[in-house]
Amino acid sequence: MSDKSSPNPRPAESGKRRPSVGVQIGKVIVGSGAPIVVQSMTNTDTEDASSTAKQIAELARAGSELVRITVNTPAAAAAVPRIRERLEMMGVDVPIIGDFHYNGHQLLESEPACAEALAKYRINPGNVGFGKKKDSQFAAIIEMALRYDKPVRIGANWGSLDQSMVATLMDENHTRAVPWDASHVAREALIRSALDSAQRAEEIGLARDRIILSCKVSGVQELIAVYRDLAARCDYALHLGLTEAGMGSKGITASSAALAVLLQEGIGDTIRISLTPEPGASRTGEVIVAQELLQTMGLRAFTPLVTACPGCGRTTSEFFQELAKTVQEHVREQMPLWRVKYDGVENLTLAVMGCVVNGPGESKHANIGISLPGNGEAPSAPVFIDGEKAMTLRGDNIANEFVGILDNYVASHYHARGD
Ligand code: SF4
Repeated sequence: MSDKSSPNPRPAESGKRRPSVGVQIGKVIVGSGAPIVVQSMTNTDTEDASSTAKQIAELARAGSELVRITVNTPAAAAAVPRIRERLEMMGVDVPIIGDFHYNGHQLLESEPACAEALAKYRINPGNVGFGKKKDSQFAAIIEMALRYDKPVRIGANWGSLDQSMVATLMDENHTRAVPWDASHVAREALIRSALDSAQRAEEIGLARDRIILSCKVSGVQELIAVYRDLAARCDYALHLGLTEAGMGSKGITASSAALAVLLQEGIGDTIRISLTPEPGASRTGEVIVAQELLQTMGLRAFTPLVTACPGCGRTTSEFFQELAKTVQEHVREQMPLWRVKYDGVENLTLAVMGCVVNGPGESKHANIGISLPGNGEAPSAPVFIDGEKAMTLRGDNIANEFVGILDNYVASHYHARGD
């Protein structure tokens, strides 16, 4: 590991992953070239074991490979083993990560069953403790991780920077011939906070393959700058994400913009998309965005994705959008079953196109494609299977018939797992 500051590190060659030390979290490996792991976080009250277990199960079934929960009170810590039991009764074995702030050392000490049930502890060096207590409380958590053989994510955060580190760096900055600007000092404080904490954890006895780092901020350019620097200065596995991405399209766009640049440079071993859900919306949206980001970049395949044209003045009605939505929703609903049953089904490609201009061409590139009639075209919809025109659909039942064709294709083209 190099601990030197390198503000302009050369990005990794596109397509190559930055080498990192692998960390095992339950059955999941993060880093060392393992597939980039999707994770998420609940927003239920952890003290409510029933609701929290239900949401963890939903997130896991949507494809979250790790799920984090806040552990903020003695009652929340006491609920953790009951959450784990409920999940096991539901047949959900996703590793649960405990998120600790301020009182993690006390909660882990007083609730051994919580310490045991969690697959990883996440701590924030900016609020693990203050003043003289900071070092002892940090050490107490690391010692608990050693006692229970758990990995730890040291997650520094722009919004809760270690103020003693900021003060030290400001003093250092005053002695520079050309002082850094304030954002450079803050970036360095974030990175040094994570790296120094990791070094301290290793001194206490935690192995390098039990440590994951993150340095989260909420700005796209800042995140890219921080992670390029962090990645060049260590070989710990890295967790990527904006600390608060925001709501709706803004959250999705900001997360994708920041993470895509870093992932393309080979930086990042696990990702979380910190979306604010729309009121009443499912928490699983953040999992779908994370999967779609990795899949559209060609880094992983999770579920068949529908290629659909945007539609234009040549499209005749909303039917084309409705069909694309119906097909994508059908695939997502079926995927928990298909994933278990059919080997490789996640690589299936689908196209729903609005007219003859690009419809047949795009449909031929997909495993299954349909080209709906545009303005002035005959009211028929040719379906292409593996590049060949297989049939033409007409009438009011096109959506159901197309979904039937899809189901038959999956059942006949993918081997049952274990065959
Ligand atoms: S395929 Fe046809 S309907 Fe779709 S955007 Fe292109 S021209 Fe418009």
